[in-house]
Amino acid sequence: MERKLNNKTLAILKPDCVKKNLIGKVVTLIQNAGFKVSAMKMVKLTSDAAKGFYAIHNGKPFFNDLITYMTSGPCVPIALEKDNAVEDFRKLIGATDPAKAAEGTIRKLYADSIQENIVHGSDSDENAAIEISHFFSRKEILDINGF
Ligand code: ADP
Ligand code: MG
Repeated sequence: MERKLNNKTLAILKPDCVKKNLIGKVVTLIQNAGFKVSAMKMVKLTSDAAKGFYAIHNGKPFFNDLITYMTSGPCVPIALEKDNAVEDFRKLIGATDPAKAAEGTIRKLYADSIQENIVHGSDSDENAAIEISHFFSRKEILDINGF
């Protein structure tokens, strides 16, 4: 069977999404856009886990606040599958700053600020694979159609 390399991305419903009781609404938008959920869990990130996940931003002015925010409550990582997953998911969530996000995007609909912006999406196929492995073992990534 052909193994596609551009069909996976990692979403995280961030602590503001969970606190605002928006898990269901955001997952509905994601599923209605054609993404299949292949793994999902709720976790509270430790400071070390958040720093590891966002290591690329270490040293930026917003880094410490980002770690405080991402560890402020539980979040919901979700491994998603769809053709062209990374690009299509970035389109669905909109720009980092909700004030600049396109109408109808998840961040435009629900985010309060450039920091508290509801949802994470991987930015490349390579990072998608790395980020999915931050949260899920191979056994935890399921094909909803079974094997
Ligand atoms: P994205 O999540 O859209 O890929 P980045 O990777 O640039 O955005 O940043 C990671 C996260 O850091 C953002 O989603 C947001 O929560 C936070 N962040 C980014 N830029 C800023 C900023 N200028 N001020 C505060 N927080 C920011
Ligand atoms: Mg990013």
